[in-house]
Amino acid sequence: LSGCGGGREATTTTETTAGTTASAEGFASDATIGVALPWLGTQNWKEAEVMFTEQLTEAGYQPLVQAADNKVPQQQQQIEAMIEQGAKAIVVGAVDGTQLGSVLETAKGAGVTIIAYDRLIENTDAVDGVVQFGSLRTGQLQGQSLLDGLAERKGDGPYTIELFGGGPADANAPNFFTGAMEVLQPKIDDGTLVVVSGQTEFTQVATPDWDNAKAQARMDSLLSGFYSGTPIDGVLSPNDGIGRAILTSAKQAGQELPVVTGLDAENESIVSIAAGEQYSTVAKPTQDLVAKTIELIDAAQQGEELPAPDETVDNGATEVGIYQLDPIVVTLDNAREVFADDPDRLQYLS
Ligand code: BGC
Repeated sequence: LSGCGGGREATTTTETTAGTTASAEGFASDATIGVALPWLGTQNWKEAEVMFTEQLTEAGYQPLVQAADNKVPQQQQQIEAMIEQGAKAIVVGAVDGTQLGSVLETAKGAGVTIIAYDRLIENTDAVDGVVQFGSLRTGQLQGQSLLDGLAERKGDGPYTIELFGGGPADANAPNFFTGAMEVLQPKIDDGTLVVVSGQTEFTQVATPDWDNAKAQARMDSLLSGFYSGTPIDGVLSPNDGIGRAILTSAKQAGQELPVVTGLDAENESIVSIAAGEQYSTVAKPTQDLVAKTIELIDAAQQGEELPAPDETVDNGATEVGIYQLDPIVVTLDNAREVFADDPDRLQYLS
């Protein structure tokens, strides 16, 4: 659009047809951009807070980055305030992807570009795209890694295991679990894996609010209820914080450490993996997710259609385009390679 002359507003007259939702008008290159994060309780969200603030500023925008302490009303209010302050795009990591319809419809009515970040937004058409690491794929990798770790560390099966899920309000959590169970269920069915507690439904294994302390308490009661005198060979953990809570519980109970999976490649878990405790994590680099999101914001700023998504997903109200990145399993075997260009993480391996 160079040569249009005059001013920073990029304007086109592209007609919007059903299903194409990119902002047709563009907005000022120094516009306010809102970023609504669910909480700062895991490393990925803290990284997102810093990276969005720095990189949106570098790109010339005025960032308004807030986190909602896992509380739906707080997040709704933060998004409302962003709209009132004239945000032209709002990036949302939802506390609960089903609870934002009405505030996002207000945003949409005001012409705001809405990008779901990491977590799906459900039951509304007020969302222009989702940027995330494939959540089913993430779960499959976790499930496969549990099997690999059991074979590597615990000899021949059958193996005793327990299952943990993430926060039920987060659309990712049931998807991670579904992906993992696609891999694990056949091995439960054929007797290779034995879930001694019998708790195999997401509702039984979920961890409210992704709260590590709640996961640790559940692990404590599983161990005392089902594993006194019986070793526990493995635990499916949906992220690193919960994984470390599970390991702490097992240590306190005097258990030989089970094979435990994770997610996020958090610094403390890299240390744990290097020490031979946590078996694996799944890396989903925040820098890649933020870069992709800013690419979409730039397209909207220019008044361009958003680039074609990798796939679409039915969010209960509409088909939403997903910009999907690939998660990577990390164990002691490949950690150096995976973090070769990430000195922040590499330092925790030594
Ligand atoms: C994210 C994970 C994170 C979890 C808890 C999920 O939606 O994908 O990276 O560990 O939320 O914060």
